[in-house]
Amino acid sequence: MTDLTDRQLERYARHVILDEVGEEGQGRLLDAKVLVVGAGGLGAPLLLYLAAAGVGTLGIIDDDTVDLSNLQRQVIHDEASIDRPKVESATARLQALNPDITIEMIAARLTAENADQIVQRFDLVADGSDNFTTRYLLNDVCYRQKKTLVSAALLRFDAQLSTFKPHLGGDHPCYRCLFPEQPPEDLIPRCESAGILGSVAGVMGSLQATEILKEIIGIGDSLSGRLLMYDALGPQFREVKFKRDPQCPTCGRPA
Ligand code: ZN
Repeated sequence: MTDLTDRQLERYARHVILDEVGEEGQGRLLDAKVLVVGAGGLGAPLLLYLAAAGVGTLGIIDDDTVDLSNLQRQVIHDEASIDRPKVESATARLQALNPDITIEMIAARLTAENADQIVQRFDLVADGSDNFTTRYLLNDVCYRQKKTLVSAALLRFDAQLSTFKPHLGGDHPCYRCLFPEQPPEDLIPRCESAGILGSVAGVMGSLQATEILKEIIGIGDSLSGRLLMYDALGPQFREVKFKRDPQCPTCGRPA
């Protein structure tokens, strides 16, 4: 770990002053490489908070361009970003926020063909995608590549969040232990058809960023084995514990 510069000590002073973080924890953040999948509703707060926190390398993968209807919740983009690739718009905002970090733009869709090669360059993965195909693909690739995955999902007024690190063995389940069967994509309503209250994405993306930072620094309790659910209308947080499935098609066999 390299020593923090005077400017870094000032920028991250409110982290460094926390006993649980300190210069060492901030150093871990600066050394960390996090892949954020999707620069949309979850990706916006995720990327803003991870960049502000000084996560040293951020990868952003997204193949979409900014649309006017995104701006109701995707607060990393603005009117001037409309029609620009989301990775470019997000990178410009993040570089203006914190030039201290490195950003890797990946203007592509995550596929079974490119996922291993992309994921292996990072330490942790934050899934802010909006579809089940990507969610299941990331679960399997992260297990193979032994990377911790923090995954969130949103719909209407509801959201959920969990952390998966089945490569550590023991009690750590994976996404397929929780949801063994991938539902057919066309049966599942998505934000574009079912709607989403914009700030719900902000709540969940911020919680997701918090869990990523905790995993990097190594503080607090992990969400591994727990599904945190947020009902904005309640408002209510609930938690469901779940266990590793020895018959799981992904983590039931060696990585
Ligand atoms: Zn599993």
